[in-house]
Amino acid sequence: MEKVRITFLGGLGDIGRNCAAIETESEILILDCGQLFPDEFMPGANSVLPDLSYLLDRSEKIVGCITTHAHEDHIGALPYLLEHISLPIYGSSFTLGMVRNRLEERQLLNNCDLIEVSDGDKVTIGQFACEFLPVTHSVPSGLISAIQTPQGLIVHSSDFKLDLEPVDGRLTDLDRIAELSKNPGIRLLLCDSTNSDVPGSTISESDIGVSLEKVFKSNEEKRIVTACFASHIHRVQQIAQTAVAAGRKISTLGLSMKKNVTLARQLGILDIMEEDLIDIESIQDYSPDQICVISTGTQAEPRSALAMASAGESRWITIGEQDAVILSSRSIPGNEDRVGRMINNLMKRGATVLHADHLGLHTSGHGNQEELRALHQAANAEWFVPVHGEYRHLVAHKDLAVEIGLPPEKVYLATDGDQIELSDDGLVLVEKVTSGRYPFVQGKILEHEHQVFSERRILGNEGFVVASVEIDNEENVILGDPKVTSKGWVNVHIAQDLEEEIARAIKEGIQKALLQKDATDEYLEQRVRRITGSLVNNLTGRRPMIVPIVRKL
Ligand SMILES: [Zn+2]
Ligand SMILES: [Zn+2]
Repeated sequence: MEKVRITFLGGLGDIGRNCAAIETESEILILDCGQLFPDEFMPGANSVLPDLSYLLDRSEKIVGCITTHAHEDHIGALPYLLEHISLPIYGSSFTLGMVRNRLEERQLLNNCDLIEVSDGDKVTIGQFACEFLPVTHSVPSGLISAIQTPQGLIVHSSDFKLDLEPVDGRLTDLDRIAELSKNPGIRLLLCDSTNSDVPGSTISESDIGVSLEKVFKSNEEKRIVTACFASHIHRVQQIAQTAVAAGRKISTLGLSMKKNVTLARQLGILDIMEEDLIDIESIQDYSPDQICVISTGTQAEPRSALAMASAGESRWITIGEQDAVILSSRSIPGNEDRVGRMINNLMKRGATVLHADHLGLHTSGHGNQEELRALHQAANAEWFVPVHGEYRHLVAHKDLAVEIGLPPEKVYLATDGDQIELSDDGLVLVEKVTSGRYPFVQGKILEHEHQVFSERRILGNEGFVVASVEIDNEENVILGDPKVTSKGWVNVHIAQDLEEEIARAIKEGIQKALLQKDATDEYLEQRVRRITGSLVNNLTGRRPMIVPIVRKL
């Protein structure tokens, strides 16, 4: 039979920018197109994207993109794809609602057809017969995709957990997976690895409601300010339900919370009565015990609603002793310090702060080992590739699959850029198709070269010194005195004397250099750099960026 290639363009080795291409001779079906939020190694970047060049180079083959759910790491890079090509996008109504909002902002809605699919739907996309099954996660309406290819059925778990009591009653359809495993059988399973190194099972999202009730009760007199991810509609639902039961009005804080609550209410997946919802501007009209604010900013992102409030910079809310702040989320690794600072600030303002890590106020959207085990057992796939995880998670997931009974040679540990091929003979790695240098966005610019980050790290840690010299081209002598200025190197009152000393040394050194016959521009620039750099180092023991400028007039 015709061979099928699967190319992993992101999401295997880092959690984020999930994107894969399933490809036959004539067609490509894209599975998710997400972004990654940059870490401290990419200072100043706003977003990191999958390497989309593989797709753009083969755009005529693309038949569509499946969006498995509404998280940024699955849909956030779609605008960058749609800037270049138009294509149909498939997903649940909530996922497509979020996609639509995002594309509207960028005026890209005309470049795609948004095609809604529901639980259990069977849709043919190009030559791929697809079936979509419900899956529980920390965002509503996620979909498992079962994709029929010339090389058999490929099942993608999406971000997956087995919540037996989901807030919306919509269970992960393991029964259908088990049916598919018998007829026609699952050739390849691609499964979420995020929590593959965590034993046991996650607690149900519904359990959070019980913890919330307790916390609301013990803070009866206070105004309650909660924060959770804006896309976590089921968490919002539980907070709202608890608040209304306690006789409180609900107000949203933060633009994305307001947008998502509006969208989810429109779609009928969030139940908050109109009379229970008030505008944030009206919260002062009520006593503290009558209000529950639902805010963004659980990760203390700069400029986020709760971070601003904790710093006393919010236009909408002043945090004080009357407030109990509930952080209903886990700190994403890397954000702990920032979240810690925000909690300090909230407490300094007199607020009581209750954090999810201690009080059962949060549960993960990704299944632990027991849940993954259940999926593997139901799927009984011939081949398995762990996806959606850092490398350690992918390895832990492989170990788990092998422990359950999958032969080690049937598990392929792929990383970003790997292209694998399914043929009648099995699964093999074909090649690595991307460089590993991922495109990133800063402001309005899409870039590929990562050099800027090492420069930025030097600038951030050491500052810079600019040394400029003007040379009379005819006389071959220095015009006036060299100028040395700096920023972020040492404080101004110290810098002034040092800069003058460096300028004198440059004058002396360059005058000597000019005596040599054919002193080229490059040579003179190098001399200025050397003289400045060594003196800077001698005088201060620092290594700021040196910017030499030689102008011949
Ligand atoms: Zn997700
Ligand atoms: Zn994800």
